[in-house]
Amino acid sequence: MKEDAVAVREFEVVIVGAGFAGLHMLYRARKKGLSVRLYEAGSGVGGTWYWNRYPGARVDIESMEYSYSFSEEVQQEWKWTERYSPQPELVRYAEFVADKFDLKRDIQFDSRVASAVFDEQTARWEIRLQSGEQVRARFCIMATGLLSAPNKPKIEGIESFAGPQPQTSLWPKEGVALEGKRVVVIGTGSSAVQAIPEIAKVASHLTVLQRTPAYAIPARNHAIDDVYQDKIKADYTGLREIEKNAFGGFVSLSFMDRPVPTKSALEVDEEERIAEYDTRWAAGGLSFYATFTDLLFSKDANETLADYVKAKIRERVKDPETAEKLIPKDYPILTKRLCADTNYYETYNRENVTLVDLRMNPIERITPAGVVAGGTLHECDVIVWATGFDAMSGALDRVDIRGRGGRRLKDHWSEGLRTFLGLMCAGFPNMVYMNGPGSPSAFFHPILLGEYQGEWIEQVIDDLGADPRATLEPRAESEDEWQRHSDELASLSLFPAAKSWYMGDNIPGKPRRMLVYLGSFASYRQHCEEAVANGYPKFRIEGRPASVAAVAS
Ligand code: NAP
Repeated sequence: MKEDAVAVREFEVVIVGAGFAGLHMLYRARKKGLSVRLYEAGSGVGGTWYWNRYPGARVDIESMEYSYSFSEEVQQEWKWTERYSPQPELVRYAEFVADKFDLKRDIQFDSRVASAVFDEQTARWEIRLQSGEQVRARFCIMATGLLSAPNKPKIEGIESFAGPQPQTSLWPKEGVALEGKRVVVIGTGSSAVQAIPEIAKVASHLTVLQRTPAYAIPARNHAIDDVYQDKIKADYTGLREIEKNAFGGFVSLSFMDRPVPTKSALEVDEEERIAEYDTRWAAGGLSFYATFTDLLFSKDANETLADYVKAKIRERVKDPETAEKLIPKDYPILTKRLCADTNYYETYNRENVTLVDLRMNPIERITPAGVVAGGTLHECDVIVWATGFDAMSGALDRVDIRGRGGRRLKDHWSEGLRTFLGLMCAGFPNMVYMNGPGSPSAFFHPILLGEYQGEWIEQVIDDLGADPRATLEPRAESEDEWQRHSDELASLSLFPAAKSWYMGDNIPGKPRRMLVYLGSFASYRQHCEEAVANGYPKFRIEGRPASVAAVAS
């Protein structure tokens, strides 16, 4: 049968991904009366929280903050049980929101998008699923997540291992039997820092293979009751306003009165500085980012915090040799993601835990019996890959995306990821990325950013009007200008001094560039608003967008 003879369904909007950003986008598009379909590779909602089921997985921004703000009803009705919710509770929350707004009737699960190709004749995205099903859409919104494409290193013999070798980011639904097993964990980033203490409790022996040590701060998780939650719920709107202007988009609730740093770490005396670090250490969590204005910009300021945390690691780990291995030596603190831990360092005091420094003993190969590193075979029954993600672009690269003239998005990015506002690329009309590269993403509350971007996208769709041929994409020079601005901010910071996924370093061959916009959400929002004001000066618009013309006149 010829393809044309097959009925290809057409939607105004196709959304890819049922994480928090995608669900909110679906809610908005439906409310607007647009015909919309959401495709999701998993069998349920929740995005990153659907897939990352590893032992110990929980959010590290307080749940009262790491939640939707768009619906006061959701804010008031939902009750969290812990300061930092565990993964199953976060999935239940996503389910609750999806059910409340009856979103699932427009979601197709178990449907991985394989390609999205822009047809210039019809001004439509031709979207094909792995199953072969094809649909068309005027707008294609990629809510595919910034940390969703797992990174599994290519290591000789990897397929030969006799036991299970789960990745933290693709943990099997049915779980992995770890009780009484010899387990090797590879990696010591945020996922491993959460998983290691839990695995050590049940494994007969745990060997951690560490390439770069992390800096971790106690999370100090605890149960939260209704009285506490009701106090925050009494003025959720007020809290959300503070968050939007806070460093990172969250306040850490005990620091609500100090959401942005106001002083340099070097302008206060040592006593005041240490008192401040002590207060934050005792409170637990990621509030350290908002302690002083210059921790991410001045090496000297940064070292004051690094030295403080190094001393804490020495206190927490009994064996001085192990403590030294766990202390980061070659990058400024906060330039790789700070981890929030529960008994991470104390886990290395256990009899059944061994730490191997891969810098001294690199991994050579995997055999049926275990991992060979530095000439030693670490025999095990299970290998856990906590090796992170192809961040920001990985999920987009895994879809064959082709814009005008058949140009592949991968080729557009071959010399470094580039977008306009982290939202769109020149030559890819009516395709929008949520939490994309070049947006504040990893440095701003991802749910609130997704909500803001959802509003922005809705406005763009509205302004383009009903003309089915109208398209919008950033001008090439707008993209250049945004990249220059973003690169310049990064160059003023300490981020380039670390090898991190923020800079694309963890994926061999990925061009090095800061992938996160560092100019604050307030500034980002202003750029987004200016870009669409007064007739969309930063965009190339085709077709007959009556309402955009009206804005311009
Ligand atoms: P990650 O931070 O990228 O850590 C990956 C770890 O694997 C690193 O220690 C890395 O070492 C190591 N590794 C990678 N390839 C390796 C290789 N070939 N050989 C040996 N070691 C290798 O990944 P992640 O822990 O999954 O965390 C990613 C991000 O997800 C975090 O930064 C955070 O933003 C988010 N996250 C958040 C939470 C939360 O909210 N609670 C939890 C988990 C993750 P190198 O450092 O040397 O590359």
